[in-house]
Amino acid sequence: MGARYAANRNVDAGPGRQTSVSHLSPYIRRRLVTEAEVVAAALDAHGPDGAGKFIQEVIWRGYFKGWLEHRPSIWESYRSGLVRDLAELQENDGLRSRLEAAEGGTSGLECFDVWARELTETGYLHNHARMWFASIWIFTLRLPWRIGADFFLRNLVDGDPASNTLGWRWVAGLHTRGKAYQATASNIARFTEDRFRLRASELAAEVVPLDHEEPGGLPPLRPLREVSAPQARVPTALLITEEDCGVESFGLSGLDIQACATLAGSELRSDRPVAAAVSAFEQEALDDSVQRSGLDARRLRAAQPPALADWATEAGVRQIVTPYVPEGPLRDHLLTQLPVLERRGISLCELRRDWDRAIWPHATAGFFKVKKRIPGILRTLEMRCR
Ligand SMILES: Cc1cc2nc3c(=O)[nH]c(=O)nc-3n(C[C@H](O)[C@H](O)[C@H](O)COP(=O)(O)OP(=O)(O)OC[C@H]3O[C@@H](n4cnc5c(N)ncnc54)[C@H](O)[C@@H]3O)c2cc1C
Repeated sequence: MGARYAANRNVDAGPGRQTSVSHLSPYIRRRLVTEAEVVAAALDAHGPDGAGKFIQEVIWRGYFKGWLEHRPSIWESYRSGLVRDLAELQENDGLRSRLEAAEGGTSGLECFDVWARELTETGYLHNHARMWFASIWIFTLRLPWRIGADFFLRNLVDGDPASNTLGWRWVAGLHTRGKAYQATASNIARFTEDRFRLRASELAAEVVPLDHEEPGGLPPLRPLREVSAPQARVPTALLITEEDCGVESFGLSGLDIQACATLAGSELRSDRPVAAAVSAFEQEALDDSVQRSGLDARRLRAAQPPALADWATEAGVRQIVTPYVPEGPLRDHLLTQLPVLERRGISLCELRRDWDRAIWPHATAGFFKVKKRIPGILRTLEMRCR
């Protein structure tokens, strides 16, 4: 988390040799360990200057989440665009076979094929490899970016709607408008320690941002959704999802908790098959969370509605309390459940973390706006900083 991270985080020496990055993302993404905890550990070990780069990277996650909260229609348009892209595959045999080769690691471009297999076999890719892969997918192989984002989301154990969708949009030149990310042979050779030596002609010579796809520019900002505090002395059910497995840190002792359930939602990441490793990791994370909460819990699956409403009704509760569910497939699912719950007189109450409260209001434009506020954000959170 200190100087070695800052100096070497861009180096991808290959699976089993990526010793300069933390591999914490599947845990942080589900808040098995929270952003605040890793940042506090980094500050303790290295101080604000030494840990600066690591802290900045952790804050990127919050920035992307907040940015998507401000523009939920970007998530909706990703989902509907993906449906259109996949439908087109049925009509276009050439595109379908190029896509199968890309996803199966047989495109003929060595580095890309190695990364495709690494992703499906391990559920992880180094950040730099994610950038190169997405750039080659879009600009060299000329495949639809949303199907690439879907390929990542279905296979990454840390798959996250905000970081993934906006990471792909960033590479495509849709996030920082007009500025796309170009993978180059020299950069790949340097940061893979010469594992891959490509000829420049194997990669797209120029990258033209995809902003023509969205001629109207970015949608207007929406205010952050309000959350209301749960009511004490009301029969309550606690719901745990992979969006936040750290329920024990919310201090729920004032609530009349009569039932607890976990809601597994990773199957909702895509209409195409989601890797077994992703669902297995999610279930283990949820089980771990239940164990730490000390409660007995029912296991529910979002892919089997109306499991949630039936469970809450059976438990005789009046409110369901859950850590905040940000934009993404699980939020889409909960929105379909709200009318059923309402009809049964059950409210859904979300808990938002101070970490999100401190970052999200600033996540309205580019990362720079958040970056310059990092010392202030850490002070708000009462973390030691300059
Ligand atoms: C196209 C693309 C898609 C991506 N999809 C995802 C995704 O689905 N889920 C996901 O968690 N990350 C995603 N990322 C961000 C980043 O690649 C991963 O978070 C990081 O590689 C995880 O490895 P690590 O824990 O070893 O990272 P480290 O370098 O050790 O970083 C520490 C922590 O900081 C956060 N972080 C680091 N880099 C980023 C970043 N660029 N954006 C957001 N958070 C970051 C993560 O929580 C990470 O665990 C994507 C990046 C790109 C370019």
